Parts: sequence; structure tokens; C-alpha cells
Amino acid sequence: MAISVRVRDMPVLGEHPALDLVNTVFVRGGLRGQLVDALTTPADLADWITEQAEALGPLGSAPDPGPDALTAFTGLRSSLRRVVAAAAAGTDAPPENVAAVNTAVGAHRDTVELPPVGYGPAQHRTDAPDLPSAVLARVARSAVDLLTGPDLELLRACPAPGCVLFYLRTHPRRGWCSPGCGNRVRVARHSRRRGETATRPEDAR
Ligand SMILES: [Zn+2]
Repeated sequence: MAISVRVRDMPVLGEHPALDLVNTVFVRGGLRGQLVDALTTPADLADWITEQAEALGPLGSAPDPGPDALTAFTGLRSSLRRVVAAAAAGTDAPPENVAAVNTAVGAHRDTVELPPVGYGPAQHRTDAPDLPSAVLARVARSAVDLLTGPDLELLRACPAPGCVLFYLRTHPRRGWCSPGCGNRVRVARHSRRRGETATRPEDAR
């Protein structure tokens, strides 16, 4: 059972809307850590939507998600996790999860228009009934863009032991989802080397 934390406690946030949604479930405390969930209440979802506003484009009203919206987001999240994991591994995603993402994309239409003066920040319109629905569709759409576009080759599952997060390898030296994972792996390697040295003194230099 996942324990509750706040959205701002997420180790990786601002990566990509689709990955940010999947990454709301993470492990805190390293290899023997605990699975935690940053989206357990409608208030958590409101925080998460606020964090995504810049990446997803303005929708014009304050977030006010209810329990139904939370269920919809966590449902999309489980489908996205399987689809993203398959994409990172280069395997086929389960068809029912692909279908669930496509249903979320198609549930509401978003349009982007020129502003009245003809240039500057785009005007976003949506036929979604409320803001959480619009954001849900937009997150699903961002997953389509990610998994069918040039950034797909940057998609990685974090290789740190015990980590369940995904990230985009935007820099060749970025080997982990977060500095925290990189540090844990370095510390583990270091203590393993020390342990080997202790048990095999002939190898010590
Ligand atoms: Zn990690």
C-alpha cells in the first residue's frame, strides 16, 4: 500500500507531462524504500495540474478536480505506466493500455488559435466539460507526441536499483532520473568496492 506524499516531494518533476503523471508513484528511501503516491486526493491532483500548467498550455480557469477526476487520472496513469515501460524497453505495449490512452486523447478536443493580433501567446480552446478533463486529454495527447516523436529515443527507465521512474536522457551524461539516484548508485558502488577489498585483501592496492 502506497503512503501519501505531496506533489512537490516528487524526485523528478517537470520532465514531460506524460512522464510526470507516471512518476507520481515513486520509491522513497532507496532500495529498501517504500512505494509512495503523490496523487491520492483531489487536492493532490489540483497541485499536480498547477505544476503542469506551463507545459500543457493555459486553459483559463482554476483547477477544481473532484474524486471522479482523480480516478480518471490514476486510471490513465496505470495505462501510461505500462505503455511507457514497454516503449522504454522497446517491446509492444498491452493493447488495452494503448486503447485507454487513445480514449483519453479522443474524449475532448483541444484547439490552438492565433491571438486576435495575429501573433504572440497562442489561444487554447477546449470542448472539455471542466478543467481536469481538459488536462487529462492534454496529458494523454502529450504521451502520443512523446511516444511517436523524436524524443522517444531519449526515453529511459531509471536503472538505479529499486527506482521506478522514467526520464528523458536530454544530456548524454544523464544516466539516472535524478541526482538522488545517481548518488545512491555511486555510494553503493563505493561500499561494494570497499567490501570486496575487505574480503579479498590480495586485490587491495
Ligand atoms: Zn531513479
